Parts: sequence; C-alpha cells; structure tokens
Amino acid sequence: MKTIFEKIIDREIPSTIEYEDESVIAFRDVTPQAPIHILIVPKKRISSINECKAEDVAILGELLLTAKKLAKKLKIDDNGYRLVVNTGKDAGQTVFHLHIHFLAGRDLNWPPG
Ligand code: AMP
Repeated sequence: MKTIFEKIIDREIPSTIEYEDESVIAFRDVTPQAPIHILIVPKKRISSINECKAEDVAILGELLLTAKKLAKKLKIDDNGYRLVVNTGKDAGQTVFHLHIHFLAGRDLNWPPG
C-alpha cells in the first residue's frame, strides 16, 4: 500500500509543492507548526532513518541540499531554520516514509518538546 507521501508524489492527493526533482519532493505540511513548515521527502520509499542503507548515502545528502535550496528560495538562509527527522514512536513519527521537517519563520524553542 502506498504511503500518503507516495500518493502526493504520484499526484493522487493534492499538496503545495515547493521543490521537486527526479529524486526529491518538498511540499507544505498540512498542519504547519511554524509560518514555514515544509516536508522534504525522497521519492524512493524508505520508512525511516532506521531503514537507510549505504546505497542511500546520495539521496540522504540530496535531502539536506534541498533544505539549503529552500532556504535560499524563501530568503530565510540568513534568519535560519530548523531541520527535524522524527524517527519511531518516541519521536512521534506518524508517516513511515522518511522526511525532513523544514521549520522557519519564527523563534524556535530549544530544547524542543
Ligand atoms: P511525522 O509526525 O514526523 O511523521 O510527520 C508527518 C507529517 O506529515 C505531519 O507533520 C503531518 O502534518 C504531515 N502530513 C500528513 N498528511 C499530510 C498531507 N496530506 N499533506 C502534507 N502534510 C501531511
């Protein structure tokens, strides 16, 4: 069965896409936790960091470079942003398709809740 993110990748459900290339898609989170809240998602189905393999090194790097591109595009590279990867139950992961939360546009508390 497809994950909700695969349905977004396949245009079966709508989303606001901020960036896309052959291996990565980035779209607005439907329940934003900050004025800017984007999910950076590999098109390859990887459930979480726990399932990453050596062969995934390139795509993992591309996810981080996508964050840099988004920051520049949205002109928040100077102000800053936070990248979060929830992994597993204790971290509150709800969608088991690897994703980076890109959060910006307000002061972000530390430590996080
Ligand atoms: P996590 O809890 O780290 O697994 O994050 C999953 C994120 O996916 C949550 O922040 C949800 O708000 C977000 N989400 C779930 N469904 C959608 C959707 N259809 N479009 C955009 N974001 C979604």
